[in-house]
Amino acid sequence: MCRLCDETPKQWVGDDRKCAFPNGVFSADNWNCATVAKLRSVANRNALTKTIEDSHFAVIPMYPDGWIVLSWYKERGRMSQAMLVNDDVREPLTLQLAMAAIERIGIPKTLERIAK
Ligand SMILES: [Zn+2]
Repeated sequence: MCRLCDETPKQWVGDDRKCAFPNGVFSADNWNCATVAKLRSVANRNALTKTIEDSHFAVIPMYPDGWIVLSWYKERGRMSQAMLVNDDVREPLTLQLAMAAIERIGIPKTLERIAK
């Protein structure tokens, strides 16, 4: 489990949280992971994003590592895809890089959204 999941109390009715970084590497089998929620908020405000109908796509530049690419459906609790890509790499996003992205392009705490 990630540090933010560990520190953030459950604030919704419904299924319990399922961390997206059970072993420090992104897993698509996730629900309301606190790091994912924060990363999505950061991406919505400060990254290149595109929404078509209910599908969201975001790209966060993380030079020199590459680009974090995120994809999710509706503003629910699940992140469908999170990976790092560059000319030579396509791999699942690590917790370490997710936290680095949040720190690099983070937003004020009051503006964070809580996934419902
Ligand atoms: Zn988590």
